[in-house]
Amino acid sequence: MFNLTGKIALISGGTKGIGKGIAKVLKKSGAIPIISGINSINGQKVAEELEVDFIPLDVSNQIACKNAVDHIVKKYSRLDILCSNAGIFPQHHIKKMTVEDWDYVLNINLKGTFFLVQSALNVMEKQNNGRIIITSSITGEKLGISGSSHYSASKAGQLGFMRSAALEYAEKNITINAIMPGYILTEGLQEFGDDYLKQFRNEIPTCRLGTPEDIGYTVCFLASNEAKYITGQTIIVDGGMTIS
Ligand code: NAP
Repeated sequence: MFNLTGKIALISGGTKGIGKGIAKVLKKSGAIPIISGINSINGQKVAEELEVDFIPLDVSNQIACKNAVDHIVKKYSRLDILCSNAGIFPQHHIKKMTVEDWDYVLNINLKGTFFLVQSALNVMEKQNNGRIIITSSITGEKLGISGSSHYSASKAGQLGFMRSAALEYAEKNITINAIMPGYILTEGLQEFGDDYLKQFRNEIPTCRLGTPEDIGYTVCFLASNEAKYITGQTIIVDGGMTIS
């Protein structure tokens, strides 16, 4: 396991699913994770379970993103790792998609990534050090899913954003990378129902859905000192799905 002792890490959407898995693995590696989400009741409960701090945060609110990062810096003096992970994946076919449906997804998944990364970069630039890891998806860049055109656009958009941001901050000792998960068994994915989960499982060469910790270990690597020469890159974690 990579050594992240004492590293201060903010994980958006850290109260469930992939984000919770990331928080668990970062903690095991010695980091100090701070989880965030919208639902404060659940957030506090999960924070107690993981023995970490919780900050309520809606990433689609730019001021809230800045305030959350400021709060962390005030309390911990720094922010070493940002996991921009919060995201939603509702289904809408284009024919029936309203502009509100489109904006809802893009505002959280893509604009929310911009807001939170921008806030973190302001702090990391002063520190001359930082690690940013964005949870994107294989959906969008590698494959499409019917009913997910807004989601696909947001996830591919995150990757374009990530590559340009990585260039802008490469000289500042800040790396910015993205993970592209395949199907990961989370609360969000479970909402698709058992039939869909079975169908997803059948598409995966390793014959199992990924776990949130599978993504956590990849985050841990990208956040480590050993990964300091990697920036603007993506790592696919999908049990071989995209090569089959
Ligand atoms: P999940 O189980 O539904 O959890 C989503 C998390 O995001 C929750 O902590 C939720 O907090 C938080 N969240 C939702 N809206 C938010 C907002 N506006 N501001 C801040 N936090 C918000 O989802 P997941 O499956 O773990 O997915 C996490 C990320 O992985 C997403 O970006 C998703 O696109 C990506 N991903 C997932 C899969 C998969 O198979 N699961 C595959 C590829 C990529 P509350 O509960 O408090 O709202």
